[in-house]
Amino acid sequence: MEREKKEPGKPDGGTTLTRREFLRDMGVAGGAVVLAGHFGVHGLAWAISGEPELKMVLVDYGKCTGCRTCEAACSSRNRPASVNGRELPGLGNPRFANIRVHRFNPDVDVPSVCAMCADTPCVKACPVKPDKKSGRRALYRDQATHTIHNDPARCLGCRSCAKACATQRTGVITPDSATGKPERMCTLCGGDPQCVRRCPFGALSYVEVRRDRKFYGQRAEKIAAELAKTWYGTVDLGGVK
Ligand code: SF4
Ligand code: SF4
Ligand code: SF4
Repeated sequence: MEREKKEPGKPDGGTTLTRREFLRDMGVAGGAVVLAGHFGVHGLAWAISGEPELKMVLVDYGKCTGCRTCEAACSSRNRPASVNGRELPGLGNPRFANIRVHRFNPDVDVPSVCAMCADTPCVKACPVKPDKKSGRRALYRDQATHTIHNDPARCLGCRSCAKACATQRTGVITPDSATGKPERMCTLCGGDPQCVRRCPFGALSYVEVRRDRKFYGQRAEKIAAELAKTWYGTVDLGGVK
């Protein structure tokens, strides 16, 4: 259940609708009017002069309510649940989704997906020698989709890619706890991103973006701090949920 929020600036600390509740009540259009302009990129935007513009998942933080439908949609497509080796259609474990919604207190929700960086610090950190034929390390960029993939047969489970992502970019890459092999790289769902399709609030879009976009490649905590400052006039995000 959503908690009540102290309204900033009110001497009695009067209670009011949380931002999430407000957005849900108003619907997408209302949220857009009030909180428009907080687009950010957690996808690739490497279209500086001469480089191709690529279609990526774009997040409008002003519209996100933290409902986590995107996590369910992503996991059902990319990590479907199975029983006795049989996939259960439409079901997945959101814990393994490639998009992760980080929630903060005060109410700020930051969906985070692979930034598919042009300079791929994760791929560079991989110690596995490039294959003579394909030129691929155990972590590589697929040249057709530009998404980042792992070759589990060659992967050492050293976690270097996840470390590079965490220290230099979004920190989305997560090593499997048992094998150390990287997970959570966005697949773009073969060109039909399910998170975008299923987001009930229109907070995600699949569009061509540029890497000079605000928030590009930043960690959720940093984005949340800036949004909290703008929306609530506080930088205190002590209540990370
Ligand atoms: S489905 Fe949309 S509104 Fe819900 S958490 Fe994901 S991005 Fe935010
Ligand atoms: S965990 Fe695997 S993919 Fe990642 S850096 Fe190590 S060997 Fe490469
Ligand atoms: S585009 Fe597909 S793989 Fe990427 S975060 Fe969205 S649902 Fe997950």
